[in-house]
Amino acid sequence: MRIDVLGVGFDNVTMEEAVNRGMELLHRPGTHYVVTPNPEIVETCRENLAARQAVNRADLVLPDGIGVVIGAKMLGTPLKEKVPGIEFAAGLMEGMAKEGLSLYLLGAQSGVAEKAGEKLAAKYPGLKIAGTHDGYFEEDGAVAEAIRQSGADCVFVCLGAPKQELWMAKHGETTGARLLCGLGGSLDVFAGVVERAPKFWSDHGLEWFYRLCKNPWRAKRMMKLPLFLVHVRKEKGRK
Ligand code: UDP
Repeated sequence: MRIDVLGVGFDNVTMEEAVNRGMELLHRPGTHYVVTPNPEIVETCRENLAARQAVNRADLVLPDGIGVVIGAKMLGTPLKEKVPGIEFAAGLMEGMAKEGLSLYLLGAQSGVAEKAGEKLAAKYPGLKIAGTHDGYFEEDGAVAEAIRQSGADCVFVCLGAPKQELWMAKHGETTGARLLCGLGGSLDVFAGVVERAPKFWSDHGLEWFYRLCKNPWRAKRMMKLPLFLVHVRKEKGRK
């Protein structure tokens, strides 16, 4: 049973359990996908039915930030812990490297996915980079076909939300990959283009604040966080 937070059902798993589930999906016949919603995406899902359906139909729904964990607790249905998408991806790549599986990197500005691929191949010996493509393309079908041709086992889809969730729901099967993971700005971090918040900040649930200080243009987007808490409070009142 998933834990409902304002219409999005989250899997109640620890990071270790999430990675194990991801590895299982990589071996299960068919195509599967993972989403990692934060409060901003939950708010988007409240307003956008297609996004909500794409998120809830995922095979694994992970609480990307502390906000969702706080929300679930306020609603009286706590989640075990936050499972940041980027750390889930790291755990998955460790497992994939051990088994010599292949990964396709889709998303971000031109050149970023290639750079991320070089760094990840060096960091996880045994991991095969099946191919890369930037995230600013017109022809969805051609990109899905290129991924199929690459024979990738797994695809990191980093197009921002809700574009990546909708893309995985619609084109996932065409890629022929076993697993697709929607991971927002992760390729920028893997490529070293964007820095992740130091451990102190994320340990104290303040990664969002660090990102805000580094990128003040995020302020408008981050207004969705207090809005999310207001909606959780309202929902709690209704229960
Ligand atoms: N992006 C993309 N194609 C698009 C829009 C965005 O590839 O059409 C990329 C963008 O370059 C960035 C990522 O998607 O690398 C979104 O990053 P953001 O930090 O907004 O995502 P978050 O991690 O906050 O979900």
